[in-house]
Amino acid sequence: MAALDGAEDCLVFNSGAAAIFAGVFANVKSGDHIVSVNAPYTWAQRMFDVVLPRFNITTTYIDGTKINNWQQATRDNTTLYYLESPNSWDFALQPIKEVAALAKTKGITTFIDNSYCTPIHQKPIEMGIDMAMQTATKYIGGHSDTLGGVLSGSKAMIKKIFDSEYLNIGSGIQPFNAWLLNRGLRTLPARLERITKTSWEVLKFLKQHPTVERVIFPFDESFPQYELAKQQMKGACGLMTMVLKTKKREEIVKFCEGLKHIMIAVSWGGHESLVIPKCAGIPVPDFDPLNHEHRYVRLYVGLEDPDYLIADLGQAFENTG
Ligand SMILES: *Cc1c(COP(=O)(O)O)cnc(C)c1O
Repeated sequence: MAALDGAEDCLVFNSGAAAIFAGVFANVKSGDHIVSVNAPYTWAQRMFDVVLPRFNITTTYIDGTKINNWQQATRDNTTLYYLESPNSWDFALQPIKEVAALAKTKGITTFIDNSYCTPIHQKPIEMGIDMAMQTATKYIGGHSDTLGGVLSGSKAMIKKIFDSEYLNIGSGIQPFNAWLLNRGLRTLPARLERITKTSWEVLKFLKQHPTVERVIFPFDESFPQYELAKQQMKGACGLMTMVLKTKKREEIVKFCEGLKHIMIAVSWGGHESLVIPKCAGIPVPDFDPLNHEHRYVRLYVGLEDPDYLIADLGQAFENTG
């Protein structure tokens, strides 16, 4: 895993969430300040909002797309920059090289959640980031039947984490899970290649469909940071977010529930395609049809035939207003 990441060393955890926690926690102390991208992975955000404040560690969330925002949010006591590029809902990117360079001038440690790309499609360590994390639960496992997380960095950084948080929070991986991850790793490039091809077919179908207002995908020309995506990522696949034209929550639910083969679930990276509407996590009275994000429907494209997926999406659209 370290070789894939282009790093000196790495640690494998029993989940991605554990890798995030240990990597961040080992690098902050009471009184420190963190700058994080807006809306990072749920349990990263919970750590920033609920756990770290108990130790007098505060976090400022920023729109990480612009380097100036990082500069402006940095305080004298800022010790860590937290990146997630792309984000797994709207795929917002950070200019990774620039953020890493800025951090170096200020002696700030950098951490990135690289789960969407995996090191096959993006190598943050080579761009100057100190710690690159990916959940192995998703693309590395590849079959939705095991959990794991990988954290890569310098020998000194990995030793520091091993000697402190790693065993303390009980995050060593179980042998059978590790065995499944090893097996998944052997087909990772082949699966990503296949998912990339299928994603293009599905994207083309969604973009021309009259029920769909727009599709968000980092390698689509309409993506606001398309140029940056092409620069720092070798590929994009699997996850895309569509916004349906309907403003009604019931219609979004009807569409998702109308899918016959694509199941509703939060995860991704496995063999089977999945869908999850943002509104599933929003209490019904709080649903705001004017808020674009509330209408997001995230699709994960798995290993099925493109025609099979397109037919399923098509029949579900037919019954959607
Ligand atoms: C799923 C996920 C994680 C956490 O992974 P687990 O292995 O499930 O703990 C972290 N970041 C992103 C972007 C994810 O999608």
